[in-house]
This record gives sequence, C-alpha cells and structure tokens, in this order.
Amino acid sequence: MSFDKLNLIKPIQKALAQEGYTIPTPIQMQAIPVVMEGRDLLGCAQTGTGKTAAFAVPILQILYNKKSDYNLKRNIKALIVTPTRELAIQIGESFSAYGKYTNLNNTVIFGGVPQRSQTDKLKRGVDILIATPGRLLDLMNQNYISLKHIEMFVLDEADRMLDMGFIHDVKKIISKLPAKRQSLFFSATMPVEIIKLANTIVTNPVKIEVTPEHPTVEAIEQSVYFVNKQDKRNLLLHLLKDNSIDSALVFTRTKHGADNVARFLLKAKVQTEAIHGNKSQNARQRALSNFKSKRTRVLVATDIAARGIDIDELSHVINFEMPNISETYVHRIGRTGRAGLSGVAISFCDVEEKAYLKDINKLISKPIPIVKDHPYAMADRTPNVTVVPKQTVSKPLTDKSSIKKIDSANTSKPVKRKWYSKPWSRKKS
Ligand code: AMP
Repeated sequence: MSFDKLNLIKPIQKALAQEGYTIPTPIQMQAIPVVMEGRDLLGCAQTGTGKTAAFAVPILQILYNKKSDYNLKRNIKALIVTPTRELAIQIGESFSAYGKYTNLNNTVIFGGVPQRSQTDKLKRGVDILIATPGRLLDLMNQNYISLKHIEMFVLDEADRMLDMGFIHDVKKIISKLPAKRQSLFFSATMPVEIIKLANTIVTNPVKIEVTPEHPTVEAIEQSVYFVNKQDKRNLLLHLLKDNSIDSALVFTRTKHGADNVARFLLKAKVQTEAIHGNKSQNARQRALSNFKSKRTRVLVATDIAARGIDIDELSHVINFEMPNISETYVHRIGRTGRAGLSGVAISFCDVEEKAYLKDINKLISKPIPIVKDHPYAMADRTPNVTVVPKQTVSKPLTDKSSIKKIDSANTSKPVKRKWYSKPWSRKKS
C-alpha cells in the first residue's frame, strides 16, 4: 500500500515524497487513518518503526484542515511530550520536514540550555510544541506557555518517562490540559504502571501494537566476543580496521567510560566523538550532527544520551560493555537496522558480564552467536567455547571472515538479514 491510500493532503504528500518515503510503515498504515478520524490512540511501538510520522502526519493534516478557524493566531494547538532532548529535536525536525508545505510551525523546548531563544520563539507564536517535561513545566510556571488551546496531545516513550523519573512531571502536565482533546499515547513496553498512566490520558483508545516480540533482533546481524576487560579497547580498534564499518555507535555504561574510549580511538586516529549527560547540549548536538553527516566515524555514547537517536544508515552498533538490563540491549541494537535498512550489532563480554549475556539471550529467545576467532579471545571455561590461538592484528577484516565466523553450536541457525522482506524500505533518491 502506498501513501496515496491514506488520503493525505497534497502539501504532506509532496513533503513525504521528498523525504523518500514511498510506502507507509505498519504503524503509519494503522495509526494515520485512526488519528485522522479523531480517535485516541494507545500505541505500543518503539523508535525505528516510523512512529514519529505516524503521529506527526495526521496532526499536521488535522491542523492544516482547520487553519481557517484559527484567525491566523498561532496558539499551541498540539503538544508532544518526549523524555529526552535528542528525541525532542528529532521530532521537531520530523514535523518541519513533513509540514514543510503546510505553513504550520513548531518549536522544540528542552532543559540544559538557556531558555531565552526558546521563549523568544514562544512569544512569536507556535502551532506545535515539542517538549521535554521539566522545561515545559518550568516555562508553564513562568507563564510563557499556556496549554488551554491544546487540541492534540502526544505522550511519547512513556515507559522511558517512567524509567527516568518524569512521571510526576507528566502527571502535572496532564492535569493542565483541556479535557476536550485528542490524545495519543506511545510506549515501547506496556507494564502495569504504564497502562494505569495511559488510562488517565486516553479515552476509549484504538490500540495498535506494531512491535512483534523482538523485531529489531530479527533484522540485525548480532555477535558476541568474549574478551578481557583490559583488551576491549584493542579489540575495538582491531574491528574498526574493517573499512566496511563506516559508522559505529559504541555504547559504554558510564560517561567516564565513554570519554576514555573516545580518547583512545582518537589517539589511534579514528575520527571519534563522545556524547553523554556531562557534555553541553551544544556539544552533544554538534557530535550528533557530525556523526550523522559521516564526518565522525565513531560515536561513543551512554544509554540515556543515545536513547532514540535516529541515525539513518547506521551500519554498526558496538556494545563495549554489556548492558545490565536486557531490554537495554534491544534498545541499543535497535539504533541500527532502522526503517528496513541493514544492521550489525557486536557485543564485547568480559567474565563479569556473562550473567548479563545470559539474561539477554533469554530475553531474545536465542543465543547471540559467539565469535571465537579474534586476536583478543579470552580464555573461557564454559564448555562450548573453544579458545582459538591469537591471530595477528594485521589480518585484514574486510573479508569479514573473522568477524562473521559464528559458533554454530550456539545458534540454531545462522543469523540472516531479513530486512529485504520488509515492504516499506526507504527509496533512496
Ligand atoms: P521513527 O521510528 O519515527 O524514529 O523513524 C525511524 C526512521 O524511519 C527515520 O529515519 C525515518 O525517517 C524513517 N521512516 C519513517 N517512515 C518511513 C517510511 N514510510 N519510509 C521510509 N522511511 C521511513
């Protein structure tokens, strides 16, 4: 099915065509008609599914069609609340791209930067506001923002809001919204607390679930390397000798760890930057945009900093440290293989992290294939891992023989890339 069937107005059709979108993703196919009908929505979906357009497109269309009612006065008519600055910026960019020909404007507000440029934009008038909870409440308290004209409200990544401790802020915001409104609620997971929260926001919602059990895992070629903690940096450098890794997002557990890895790679002349909560907002944005435009080959990030980061064509995710929460693994590797493109996820696992690996294997229901043939292979006492002799670092990796050799004893079948079968891959212009 193409976008033509969704009865989109010409200005939006034109913008989507320019973005290279030809076929709606499953969530777009399901959500766009429902939202355009005016129904509330409860969507179980994670980033990478095309969720942003699933709510942004119908919001733009509804507001565009009502424009004559607004007497040209720009009040905030749609509010999108999302947990991180990076997500907020990305959502703002998506609204700008899809709404390019609608003459509806949007502004993004988030904390950690001076408020002046944000309040200046608010004073000039805004149709669509994208905000993180803290700064939104702050500017509401200072009377820069009134929610009384809100007609459409989106709560994005609700489970992450809960994880990040924003739930009280979110409740305060909800209490200030007009009762008569359309609400869309999105969460990657639906634990009990989230369902309870959803019930306070949406009324008689249409429920959409586009997350098959482990969607990202299916599409991504995964492997794990057993390696001693002190050898991880050298193993990373060794892997990066493979020129087919044109962009790698490397995850560390701590900010300090991110800086260390970035420094090490820079010393070895690998173009690298790090992003984490201690960096200024400007530094984070700069690093992200350098990475997206491929000026930087490696971006080292902590989980919070990287959550939801939307990087088209990210070829590799490398878990420098195994996440201690298994769901985080799925979120991390979901940064690659997005919107139907290919992806490779490599994980480094030291002795202390083996328990995490076990949990992850359980969550994704099949063991991540083990690469044994690498120069920093760790002596391992588990029966199914044979230690291979050290190989010289100079062995070229471009044939991928050493990074793709998987332990067939540990996987039921070789991991195949399945993205070809997805009907909605992006048409490249
Ligand atoms: P999201 O889940 O909204 O973060 O989207 C993930 C990625 O998919 C972004 O890079 C979007 O630009 C891209 N995308 C969204 N919808 C489509 C579509 N219908 N066709 C191709 N790419 C898309």
